Amino acid sequence: MPYNIEDIRRDFPILGREIYGKPLVYLDNAATTQKPRCVVEAITDEYYSTNANVHRGVHFLSQQATDLHEAARERVRAFINARSTAEILFTRGTTESLNLVAASFGEAFLHEGDEVILSVMEHHSDIVPWQLLRERKGIVIKVIPMDDEGNLDLDAYAALFSERTRLVCAAHVSNVLGTVNPVRQMAEVAHAHGAYFLVDGAQSIPHFKVDVQELGCDFLTFSGHKIYGPTGIGVLYGREELLEQMPPYQGGGEMISRVTFEHTTYERLPYKFEAGTPDYVGSHALAVAIDYVESLGMDAIAAHEQELTRYAMEQMQQIEGLKVYGRARQKDAVIAFNVGDIHPLDLGTLLDRLGIAIRTGHHCAQPLMARCGVEGMARASFALYNTKAEIDALVAGIERVRKMF
Ligand code: PLP
Repeated sequence: MPYNIEDIRRDFPILGREIYGKPLVYLDNAATTQKPRCVVEAITDEYYSTNANVHRGVHFLSQQATDLHEAARERVRAFINARSTAEILFTRGTTESLNLVAASFGEAFLHEGDEVILSVMEHHSDIVPWQLLRERKGIVIKVIPMDDEGNLDLDAYAALFSERTRLVCAAHVSNVLGTVNPVRQMAEVAHAHGAYFLVDGAQSIPHFKVDVQELGCDFLTFSGHKIYGPTGIGVLYGREELLEQMPPYQGGGEMISRVTFEHTTYERLPYKFEAGTPDYVGSHALAVAIDYVESLGMDAIAAHEQELTRYAMEQMQQIEGLKVYGRARQKDAVIAFNVGDIHPLDLGTLLDRLGIAIRTGHHCAQPLMARCGVEGMARASFALYNTKAEIDALVAGIERVRKMF
């Protein structure tokens, strides 16, 4: 399919909205993306025509709903090229996926004094679960530093390993700096030291093709809502032999094989990790979202967004006093910035009055804010439906605010 931006924008009804009488310019896509009609329709269609609880029913609707849910698992497997659907766990999102790994992998594989390496640019959801584990088990957290451009220091990374290092966790793409981290190379280093490697794919999965076998990662996490799917559904990919050795994360229905008051045995993968009624409507809608992005082509999406990022960097740098955070060698569709002494909250609020939605604050990455020496930043982030005209509107909006101050 040719990449026709006007046709694509028509797939997203919300983009036609006005905010304070101005056309919406939605540049908060790293927080969440807007939904194409096909995803919203998949949700209403399933509730109107196929709704029934999955896995347990002998009746027609339950089997049909189960088929949709399991077809979605296969859709996700193929999308990230996992070896088996046993490796695809549905969760509520990246945050739950990371908490699952910290709790369950942490339980089975980490003991007092064992080390987990994180990068300085991790989202809080890839920091706090490890700190909770540190409180419970006395693990040690080490941090990979970065240079002033936002590239991780790979020499310092290699020097962090010891015989106690068990796991490395790194964002594939920073939600603030846009840095695309060399996770494949980093995973090789981890494996050479006998450690496992987790990729937080929240900000990469929506933007370019991700292949877990090519990356060689042991875990990968992502959220449905950041890739044009619904909220409340996410994925944890884990290598089967690791998941087999990990204990359940939560107990309840669906995840058991047999229960007595004396003893319970667990279901096979992936169900061992999916206690309770899953979000089977969400999983189906996520599969439809994946169909949608693949119909446009991940390479075409990546090329479009790379061009937007290049253009935005070029245009924004013309603005007097504007400082961009993150000029990494490989950078994705996120630009964090501050303008002179203007508080990012003021900037965001005034841009909002012009219909321009950006995010401001610490972006759930306070350690990174500290590294950059600021309390907060403004952030524009791009998606497959954004246009250069919207970037022009952002630049004009920033100029207008700047002149007010
Ligand atoms: N990791 C990264 C890099 C993110 O950007 C985000 C969300 O912004 C998360 C994790 C958490 O995702 P969620 O809130 O969907 O669980």
